[in-house]
Amino acid sequence: MFDTDLHCLVVVGAQWGDEGKGKLVDVISERADLVVRYQGGANAGHTVVIGDSQFILRLIPSGILHPTTTCVLGNGVVIDPDAFFGELDGLAERGVPVTGRVLVSDRAHLVLPYHKLLDAAAERSQNIGTTRRGIGPAYEDKYGRRGLRVGFLSDLPRMERRLADRVRLANEQLALLGAPERASVDEHVTLIRRIAPRLLPMVVDTGAHLHHAIRAGQRVLLEGAQGSLLDVDHGTYPFVTSSNTTAGGAAVGAGIGPTAIDGVLGVVKAYTTRVGNGPLPTLAPAPVEEELRRLGHEFGAVTGRPRRCGWFDALVVRYAARVNGLTALAVTKLDVLDSFETIPVGAAYDLDGARLEEMPSDLSALERVTPVLETLEGWRTSTSTARSLADLPRPARSYLERLEVLADTPIRYVSVGTRRDQIIEVA
Ligand code: GDP
Repeated sequence: MFDTDLHCLVVVGAQWGDEGKGKLVDVISERADLVVRYQGGANAGHTVVIGDSQFILRLIPSGILHPTTTCVLGNGVVIDPDAFFGELDGLAERGVPVTGRVLVSDRAHLVLPYHKLLDAAAERSQNIGTTRRGIGPAYEDKYGRRGLRVGFLSDLPRMERRLADRVRLANEQLALLGAPERASVDEHVTLIRRIAPRLLPMVVDTGAHLHHAIRAGQRVLLEGAQGSLLDVDHGTYPFVTSSNTTAGGAAVGAGIGPTAIDGVLGVVKAYTTRVGNGPLPTLAPAPVEEELRRLGHEFGAVTGRPRRCGWFDALVVRYAARVNGLTALAVTKLDVLDSFETIPVGAAYDLDGARLEEMPSDLSALERVTPVLETLEGWRTSTSTARSLADLPRPARSYLERLEVLADTPIRYVSVGTRRDQIIEVA
Protein backbone atom coordinates (compact mmCIF):
# COMPACT_ATOMS: atom_id res chain seq x y z
CA MET A 1 0.00 0.00 0.00
CA PHE A 2 2.79 2.42 0.88
CA ASP A 3 4.79 3.76 -2.06
CA THR A 4 6.66 6.90 -3.07
CA ASP A 5 3.40 8.89 -3.26
CA LEU A 6 1.76 7.40 -0.21
CA HIS A 7 3.40 7.90 3.17
CA CYS A 8 0.46 8.62 5.40
CA LEU A 9 -2.55 6.30 5.21
CA VAL A 10 -5.78 6.23 7.21
CA VAL A 11 -7.56 2.90 7.68
CA VAL A 12 -11.22 3.27 8.66
CA GLY A 13 -14.14 0.94 9.13
CA ALA A 14 -16.71 1.76 6.47
CA GLN A 15 -19.72 0.06 8.10
CA TRP A 16 -20.76 -0.29 11.76
CA GLY A 17 -17.40 -1.46 13.09
CA ASP A 18 -15.90 -4.95 13.47
CA GLU A 19 -15.02 -4.98 9.76
CA GLY A 20 -11.66 -6.66 10.35
CA LYS A 21 -9.61 -3.46 10.59
CA GLY A 22 -7.27 -5.18 13.05
CA LYS A 23 -6.24 -7.74 10.45
CA LEU A 24 -5.79 -5.14 7.69
CA VAL A 25 -3.79 -2.84 9.93
CA ASP A 26 -1.67 -5.80 10.99
CA VAL A 27 -0.96 -6.72 7.36
CA ILE A 28 -0.26 -3.15 6.20
CA SER A 29 1.72 -2.09 9.27
CA GLU A 30 4.42 -4.55 8.29
CA ARG A 31 5.57 -1.69 6.05
CA ALA A 32 4.78 1.20 8.45
CA ASP A 33 7.16 2.99 10.77
CA LEU A 34 4.43 4.41 13.00
CA VAL A 35 0.90 3.18 13.71
CA VAL A 36 -1.44 5.66 15.37
CA ARG A 37 -4.80 5.39 17.13
CA TYR A 38 -6.67 8.69 16.82
CA GLN A 39 -10.02 8.26 18.57
CA GLY A 40 -12.03 6.06 20.90
CA GLY A 41 -10.76 4.14 23.85
CA ALA A 42 -10.78 0.66 25.31
CA ASN A 43 -14.27 0.15 23.87
CA ALA A 44 -12.77 -0.93 20.56
CA GLY A 45 -11.66 -4.51 20.07
CA HIS A 46 -9.43 -5.50 17.20
CA THR A 47 -8.77 -9.18 16.78
CA VAL A 48 -5.55 -10.26 15.09
CA VAL A 49 -4.65 -13.89 14.47
CA ILE A 50 -0.98 -14.79 14.09
CA GLY A 51 -0.29 -18.48 13.61
CA ASP A 52 -2.25 -20.22 16.35
CA SER A 53 -2.38 -17.14 18.58
CA GLN A 54 -5.19 -14.66 18.80
CA PHE A 55 -4.58 -11.15 20.11
CA ILE A 56 -7.39 -8.79 21.08
CA LEU A 57 -6.23 -5.20 21.09
CA ARG A 58 -8.37 -2.49 22.63
CA LEU A 59 -6.27 0.63 23.01
CA ILE A 60 -2.89 -0.23 21.65
CA PRO A 61 -2.60 -0.03 17.85
CA SER A 62 -2.47 -3.40 16.09
CA GLY A 63 0.95 -2.33 14.75
CA ILE A 64 2.44 -3.43 18.10
CA LEU A 65 2.55 -6.97 16.69
CA HIS A 66 5.32 -5.93 14.25
CA PRO A 67 8.48 -5.47 16.34
CA THR A 68 9.87 -2.51 14.41
CA THR A 69 6.87 -0.18 14.45
CA THR A 70 6.32 2.57 16.99
CA CYS A 71 2.76 2.84 18.28
CA VAL A 72 1.12 6.12 19.14
CA LEU A 73 -2.00 6.95 21.12
CA GLY A 74 -2.96 10.35 19.73
CA ASN A 75 -4.63 13.31 21.39
CA GLY A 76 -8.08 12.16 20.19
CA VAL A 77 -7.93 8.93 22.19
CA VAL A 78 -9.31 8.57 25.72
CA ILE A 79 -7.15 6.36 27.91
CA ASP A 80 -8.19 4.09 30.73
CA PRO A 81 -4.79 3.67 32.45
CA ASP A 82 -5.50 0.27 33.97
CA ALA A 83 -6.87 -1.09 30.68
CA PHE A 84 -3.81 0.34 28.91
CA PHE A 85 -1.23 -1.19 31.26
CA GLY A 86 -3.19 -4.44 31.45
CA GLU A 87 -2.98 -4.70 27.68
CA LEU A 88 0.73 -3.80 27.59
CA ASP A 89 1.53 -6.39 30.28
CA GLY A 90 -0.59 -9.00 28.51
CA LEU A 91 1.34 -8.45 25.27
CA ALA A 92 4.71 -8.55 27.07
CA GLU A 93 3.74 -11.83 28.79
CA ARG A 94 3.08 -13.30 25.35
CA GLY A 95 6.52 -12.29 24.12
CA VAL A 96 5.61 -9.11 22.23
CA PRO A 97 8.30 -6.49 22.87
CA VAL A 98 6.60 -3.33 24.14
CA THR A 99 9.28 -1.37 26.00
CA GLY A 100 9.96 1.98 24.38
CA ARG A 101 7.54 1.27 21.54
CA VAL A 102 4.44 3.13 22.73
CA LEU A 103 4.04 6.91 22.82
CA VAL A 104 1.07 8.63 24.44
CA SER A 105 -0.13 12.14 23.66
CA ASP A 106 0.05 14.67 26.47
CA ARG A 107 -3.27 16.00 25.14
CA ALA A 108 -5.12 12.66 25.34
CA HIS A 109 -7.77 12.49 28.06
CA LEU A 110 -8.00 9.99 30.89
CA VAL A 111 -10.91 7.63 31.48
CA LEU A 112 -11.29 7.18 35.23
CA PRO A 113 -13.48 4.98 37.44
CA TYR A 114 -16.05 7.75 37.91
CA HIS A 115 -16.58 7.82 34.12
CA LYS A 116 -17.51 4.14 34.21
CA LEU A 117 -20.05 4.69 36.98
CA LEU A 118 -21.59 7.53 34.94
CA ASP A 119 -21.61 5.39 31.78
CA ALA A 120 -23.46 2.54 33.50
CA ALA A 121 -25.95 4.94 35.09
CA ALA A 122 -26.63 6.78 31.79
CA GLU A 123 -26.90 3.52 29.87
CA ARG A 124 -29.65 2.33 32.22
CA SER A 125 -31.85 5.20 31.01
CA GLN A 126 -30.59 5.84 27.45
CA ASN A 127 -29.99 2.29 26.24
CA ILE A 128 -27.55 3.19 23.44
CA GLY A 129 -25.76 -0.14 23.80
CA THR A 130 -22.41 1.26 25.01
CA THR A 131 -19.68 -1.00 26.37
CA ARG A 132 -19.95 0.84 29.75
CA ARG A 133 -16.23 1.51 29.76
CA GLY A 134 -16.61 5.19 30.54
CA ILE A 135 -15.72 6.41 27.04
CA GLY A 136 -18.80 8.59 26.48
CA PRO A 137 -18.55 10.39 29.85
CA ALA A 138 -14.80 10.97 29.30
CA TYR A 139 -15.57 12.71 25.98
CA GLU A 140 -18.39 14.64 27.69
CA ASP A 141 -15.82 15.92 30.19
CA LYS A 142 -13.45 16.80 27.35
CA TYR A 143 -16.02 18.85 25.45
CA GLY A 144 -17.40 20.24 28.72
CA ARG A 145 -13.86 21.59 29.27
CA ARG A 146 -13.44 19.78 32.55
CA GLY A 147 -11.57 16.72 31.24
CA LEU A 148 -8.35 15.43 32.76
CA ARG A 149 -5.52 15.27 30.27
CA VAL A 150 -2.61 12.85 30.45
CA GLY A 151 -0.23 15.82 30.54
CA PHE A 152 -1.77 16.97 33.85
CA LEU A 153 -0.05 14.02 35.54
CA SER A 154 3.21 15.96 35.53
CA ASP A 155 1.80 18.21 38.30
CA LEU A 156 0.26 15.72 40.72
CA PRO A 157 -0.82 18.13 43.54
CA ARG A 158 -2.76 20.21 41.01
CA MET A 159 -4.15 17.08 39.36
CA GLU A 160 -5.39 15.81 42.74
CA ARG A 161 -7.25 19.07 43.39
CA ARG A 162 -8.90 18.83 39.97
CA LEU A 163 -9.71 15.18 40.61
CA ALA A 164 -11.48 15.94 43.91
CA ASP A 165 -13.62 18.49 42.09
CA ARG A 166 -14.50 16.10 39.23
CA VAL A 167 -15.38 13.25 41.60
CA ARG A 168 -17.68 15.57 43.54
CA LEU A 169 -19.39 16.62 40.28
CA ALA A 170 -19.70 13.01 39.17
CA ASN A 171 -21.33 12.06 42.47
CA GLU A 172 -23.87 14.86 42.08
CA GLN A 173 -24.65 13.60 38.61
CA LEU A 174 -24.97 10.01 39.82
CA ALA A 175 -27.45 11.18 42.46
CA LEU A 176 -29.44 13.02 39.76
CA LEU A 177 -29.49 9.87 37.62
CA GLY A 178 -30.83 7.93 40.62
CA ALA A 179 -27.78 5.64 40.71
CA PRO A 180 -26.86 4.17 44.10
CA GLU A 181 -23.08 4.07 43.42
CA ARG A 182 -20.65 6.85 44.40
CA ALA A 183 -17.07 7.50 43.31
CA SER A 184 -14.33 7.87 45.89
CA VAL A 185 -11.72 10.65 45.82
CA ASP A 186 -9.23 8.45 47.68
CA GLU A 187 -9.57 5.67 45.13
CA HIS A 188 -8.91 8.14 42.33
CA VAL A 189 -5.92 9.74 44.04
CA THR A 190 -4.39 6.33 44.73
CA LEU A 191 -4.90 5.35 41.09
CA ILE A 192 -3.32 8.54 39.74
CA ARG A 193 -0.28 8.26 42.06
CA ARG A 194 0.19 4.66 41.00
CA ILE A 195 -0.02 5.19 37.24
CA ALA A 196 1.76 8.55 36.84
CA PRO A 197 5.35 7.27 37.23
CA ARG A 198 4.73 4.53 34.67
CA LEU A 199 2.77 6.59 32.14
CA LEU A 200 4.77 9.83 32.14
CA PRO A 201 7.92 8.41 30.48
CA MET A 202 5.77 7.49 27.44
CA VAL A 203 4.16 10.92 27.16
CA VAL A 204 5.19 13.27 24.36
CA ASP A 205 3.68 15.85 22.03
CA THR A 206 2.65 13.14 19.56
CA GLY A 207 1.45 15.65 16.93
CA ALA A 208 4.93 17.16 16.75
CA HIS A 209 6.49 13.69 16.72
CA LEU A 210 4.30 12.64 13.77
CA HIS A 211 4.92 15.89 11.92
CA HIS A 212 8.68 15.38 12.05
CA ALA A 213 8.35 11.70 11.16
CA ILE A 214 6.25 12.50 8.07
CA ARG A 215 8.69 15.26 7.07
CA ALA A 216 11.52 12.73 7.35
CA GLY A 217 9.72 10.38 4.93
CA GLN A 218 8.59 7.81 7.48
CA ARG A 219 5.45 5.76 6.76
CA VAL A 220 2.53 6.43 9.05
CA LEU A 221 -0.64 4.41 9.37
CA LEU A 222 -3.58 5.99 11.19
CA GLU A 223 -5.82 3.28 12.60
CA GLY A 224 -9.52 4.02 13.09
CA ALA A 225 -11.59 2.21 15.67
CA GLN A 226 -15.30 1.41 15.34
CA GLY A 227 -16.95 2.22 12.00
CA SER A 228 -18.03 5.23 9.96
CA LEU A 229 -21.72 4.65 10.75
CA LEU A 230 -20.84 5.01 14.43
CA ASP A 231 -19.23 8.44 13.92
CA VAL A 232 -20.81 10.97 16.28
CA ASP A 233 -21.58 13.34 13.35
CA HIS A 234 -22.07 11.03 10.40
CA GLY A 235 -23.35 7.88 12.05
CA THR A 236 -26.85 6.69 12.93
CA TYR A 237 -27.23 9.21 15.75
CA PRO A 238 -27.87 8.72 18.67
CA PHE A 239 -26.79 5.08 18.31
CA VAL A 240 -23.19 6.11 17.73
CA THR A 241 -19.89 6.29 19.55
CA SER A 242 -18.66 9.51 21.16
CA SER A 243 -15.92 10.44 18.70
CA ASN A 244 -15.26 11.10 15.01
CA THR A 245 -14.34 7.72 13.60
CA THR A 246 -14.17 9.02 10.02
CA ALA A 247 -11.01 10.10 8.21
CA GLY A 248 -11.42 13.78 9.12
CA GLY A 249 -11.16 12.71 12.74
CA ALA A 250 -7.80 11.12 11.94
CA ALA A 251 -6.16 14.48 11.29
CA VAL A 252 -7.71 16.07 14.37
CA GLY A 253 -7.13 13.09 16.65
CA ALA A 254 -3.54 12.50 15.57
CA GLY A 255 -2.65 16.18 15.61
CA ILE A 256 -1.58 16.46 11.97
CA GLY A 257 -2.99 18.57 9.14
CA PRO A 258 -5.44 16.97 6.67
CA THR A 259 -3.01 17.71 3.84
CA ALA A 260 -0.53 15.27 5.41
CA ILE A 261 -2.88 12.36 4.62
CA ASP A 262 -2.26 10.69 1.25
CA GLY A 263 -4.91 7.98 1.17
CA VAL A 264 -7.89 6.51 3.00
CA LEU A 265 -8.58 2.78 2.96
CA GLY A 266 -12.12 1.75 3.93
CA VAL A 267 -12.48 -1.72 5.42
CA VAL A 268 -15.80 -3.48 4.78
CA LYS A 269 -17.08 -6.96 5.35
CA ALA A 270 -18.49 -8.75 2.32
CA TYR A 271 -21.77 -8.56 4.28
CA THR A 272 -22.93 -6.30 7.15
CA THR A 273 -23.03 -6.63 10.93
CA ARG A 274 -23.98 -4.40 13.78
CA VAL A 275 -23.49 -4.68 17.53
CA GLY A 276 -25.33 -2.42 19.95
CA ASN A 277 -28.68 -0.83 19.19
CA GLY A 278 -30.05 1.04 16.17
CA PRO A 279 -31.39 0.11 12.72
CA LEU A 280 -29.76 -2.39 10.34
CA PRO A 281 -31.74 -2.15 7.06
CA THR A 282 -30.29 -5.23 5.33
CA LEU A 283 -30.79 -7.52 8.35
CA ALA A 284 -31.09 -11.11 7.10
CA PRO A 285 -34.09 -13.34 7.97
CA ALA A 286 -33.53 -15.18 11.30
CA PRO A 287 -32.19 -18.56 10.06
CA VAL A 288 -29.84 -16.92 7.54
CA GLU A 289 -28.71 -14.37 10.13
CA GLU A 290 -27.92 -17.25 12.47
CA GLU A 291 -25.88 -18.92 9.71
CA LEU A 292 -23.92 -15.73 8.95
CA ARG A 293 -23.23 -15.26 12.68
CA ARG A 294 -22.04 -18.81 13.06
CA LEU A 295 -19.83 -18.82 9.97
CA GLY A 296 -18.39 -15.36 10.66
CA HIS A 297 -18.07 -15.83 14.47
CA GLU A 298 -19.98 -12.61 14.86
CA PHE A 299 -19.74 -11.97 18.58
CA GLY A 300 -18.29 -8.75 20.05
CA ALA A 301 -14.54 -8.91 20.81
CA VAL A 302 -14.97 -6.77 23.96
CA THR A 303 -18.40 -7.78 25.26
CA GLY A 304 -19.09 -11.14 23.59
CA ARG A 305 -22.50 -9.81 22.50
CA PRO A 306 -23.95 -11.48 19.37
CA ARG A 307 -23.81 -9.12 16.38
CA ARG A 308 -26.83 -8.68 14.15
CA CYS A 309 -26.00 -9.85 10.63
CA GLY A 310 -27.27 -8.96 7.18
CA TRP A 311 -26.31 -8.46 3.57
CA PHE A 312 -23.83 -5.99 2.11
CA ASP A 313 -25.47 -2.58 2.12
CA ALA A 314 -24.19 -0.45 -0.76
CA LEU A 315 -25.80 2.72 0.56
CA VAL A 316 -23.84 2.42 3.78
CA VAL A 317 -20.54 1.88 1.98
CA ARG A 318 -21.18 4.55 -0.67
CA TYR A 319 -21.98 6.97 2.11
CA ALA A 320 -18.84 5.97 4.00
CA ALA A 321 -16.84 6.41 0.79
CA ARG A 322 -18.14 9.96 0.52
CA VAL A 323 -17.74 11.13 4.13
CA ASN A 324 -14.27 9.57 4.43
CA GLY A 325 -13.06 10.38 0.92
CA LEU A 326 -12.12 6.71 0.54
CA THR A 327 -9.41 6.08 -2.04
CA ALA A 328 -9.71 2.27 -1.84
CA LEU A 329 -11.67 -0.55 -0.23
CA ALA A 330 -10.55 -3.67 1.59
CA VAL A 331 -13.26 -6.35 1.53
CA THR A 332 -12.92 -8.85 4.39
CA LYS A 333 -14.54 -12.16 5.23
CA LEU A 334 -15.37 -13.10 1.65
CA ASP A 335 -14.89 -16.72 2.77
CA VAL A 336 -17.87 -16.43 5.15
CA LEU A 337 -20.12 -16.33 2.06
CA ASP A 338 -18.55 -19.43 0.49
CA SER A 339 -21.52 -21.74 1.15
CA PHE A 340 -24.42 -19.55 0.01
CA GLU A 341 -26.24 -20.45 -3.19
CA THR A 342 -27.30 -16.88 -3.86
CA ILE A 343 -26.21 -13.68 -2.11
CA PRO A 344 -28.48 -10.67 -1.86
CA VAL A 345 -26.93 -7.18 -1.84
CA GLY A 346 -28.71 -3.99 -0.77
CA ALA A 347 -28.44 -1.56 -3.70
CA ALA A 348 -30.86 1.19 -2.60
CA TYR A 349 -33.66 1.81 -0.10
CA ASP A 350 -37.39 2.30 -0.53
CA LEU A 351 -38.85 4.87 1.83
CA ASP A 352 -42.61 5.35 1.87
CA GLY A 353 -42.79 4.47 -1.84
CA ALA A 354 -39.83 6.63 -2.93
CA ARG A 355 -36.40 5.36 -3.97
CA LEU A 356 -33.49 6.54 -1.77
CA GLU A 357 -29.94 6.52 -3.12
CA GLU A 358 -28.35 8.36 -0.15
CA MET A 359 -28.27 7.54 3.58
CA PRO A 360 -30.99 9.49 5.40
CA SER A 361 -29.81 11.45 8.44
CA ASP A 362 -33.12 10.88 10.19
CA LEU A 363 -33.04 7.71 12.26
CA SER A 364 -36.80 7.18 12.03
CA ALA A 365 -36.50 7.22 8.23
CA LEU A 366 -33.73 4.62 8.40
CA GLU A 367 -35.94 2.50 10.65
CA ARG A 368 -38.71 2.57 8.02
CA VAL A 369 -36.70 1.86 4.87
CA THR A 370 -36.85 -1.45 3.07
CA PRO A 371 -33.73 -2.41 1.15
CA VAL A 372 -33.87 -2.92 -2.59
CA LEU A 373 -32.00 -6.20 -2.89
CA GLU A 374 -30.13 -7.47 -5.93
CA THR A 375 -29.53 -11.21 -5.88
CA LEU A 376 -26.08 -12.27 -7.00
CA GLU A 377 -24.87 -15.78 -7.73
CA GLY A 378 -22.96 -17.60 -4.97
CA TRP A 379 -19.82 -19.67 -5.66
CA ARG A 380 -20.25 -22.59 -3.24
CA THR A 381 -16.58 -23.37 -3.04
CA SER A 382 -13.86 -22.39 -0.62
CA THR A 383 -12.01 -19.13 -1.29
CA SER A 384 -9.67 -19.45 1.71
CA THR A 385 -6.63 -20.49 -0.33
CA ALA A 386 -6.98 -17.78 -3.02
CA ARG A 387 -4.03 -15.39 -3.12
CA SER A 388 -4.90 -13.53 -6.31
CA LEU A 389 -8.15 -12.48 -7.95
CA ALA A 390 -7.52 -15.08 -10.63
CA ASP A 391 -7.65 -17.81 -7.94
CA LEU A 392 -11.24 -16.86 -7.06
CA PRO A 393 -14.23 -18.59 -8.65
CA ARG A 394 -15.88 -16.47 -11.35
CA PRO A 395 -19.07 -15.69 -9.33
CA ALA A 396 -16.88 -14.43 -6.44
CA ARG A 397 -15.05 -12.08 -8.82
CA SER A 398 -18.41 -10.91 -10.20
CA TYR A 399 -19.62 -10.32 -6.65
CA LEU A 400 -16.58 -8.16 -5.88
CA GLU A 401 -16.92 -6.28 -9.17
CA ARG A 402 -20.53 -5.49 -8.32
CA LEU A 403 -19.56 -4.22 -4.84
CA GLU A 404 -16.92 -2.02 -6.42
CA VAL A 405 -19.47 -0.44 -8.77
CA LEU A 406 -22.14 -0.03 -6.09
CA ALA A 407 -19.67 1.48 -3.60
CA ASP A 408 -18.05 3.59 -6.31
CA THR A 409 -14.59 2.79 -4.91
CA PRO A 410 -11.86 0.47 -6.22
CA ILE A 411 -11.05 -2.67 -4.21
CA ARG A 412 -7.41 -2.94 -3.14
CA TYR A 413 -7.54 -5.91 -0.77
CA VAL A 414 -9.72 -8.98 -0.37
CA SER A 415 -9.39 -10.99 2.84
CA VAL A 416 -10.34 -14.67 2.72
CA GLY A 417 -9.56 -15.88 6.25
CA THR A 418 -8.30 -14.83 9.66
CA ARG A 419 -4.60 -15.51 9.03
CA ARG A 420 -2.08 -12.91 7.87
CA ASP A 421 -1.38 -14.74 4.63
CA GLN A 422 -5.06 -15.13 3.72
CA ILE A 423 -5.20 -11.92 1.75
CA ILE A 424 -5.34 -10.87 -1.89
CA GLU A 425 -3.65 -7.61 -2.79
CA VAL A 426 -5.11 -6.26 -6.01
CA ALA A 427 -2.31 -4.70 -8.01
P1 GDP B 1 -12.11 -4.93 13.88
O1 GDP B 1 -12.51 -4.31 15.17
O2 GDP B 1 -12.57 -4.15 12.70
O3 GDP B 1 -10.66 -5.28 13.82
O4 GDP B 1 -12.90 -6.29 13.77
P2 GDP B 1 -12.99 -7.50 14.84
O5 GDP B 1 -11.65 -7.85 15.31
O6 GDP B 1 -14.04 -7.25 15.84
O7 GDP B 1 -13.61 -8.61 13.90
C1 GDP B 1 -12.94 -9.16 12.90
C2 GDP B 1 -12.93 -10.66 13.12
O8 GDP B 1 -12.94 -11.25 11.87
C3 GDP B 1 -11.68 -11.16 13.81
O9 GDP B 1 -11.98 -12.26 14.60
C4 GDP B 1 -10.77 -11.56 12.66
O10 GDP B 1 -9.85 -12.57 12.99
C5 GDP B 1 -11.77 -12.04 11.68
N1 GDP B 1 -11.41 -11.85 10.28
C6 GDP B 1 -10.78 -10.78 9.71
N2 GDP B 1 -10.68 -10.97 8.38
C7 GDP B 1 -11.28 -12.16 8.11
C8 GDP B 1 -11.52 -12.88 6.92
O11 GDP B 1 -11.20 -12.47 5.81
N3 GDP B 1 -12.20 -14.07 7.06
C9 GDP B 1 -12.62 -14.55 8.25
N4 GDP B 1 -13.26 -15.71 8.28
N5 GDP B 1 -12.41 -13.89 9.39
C10 GDP B 1 -11.75 -12.71 9.32
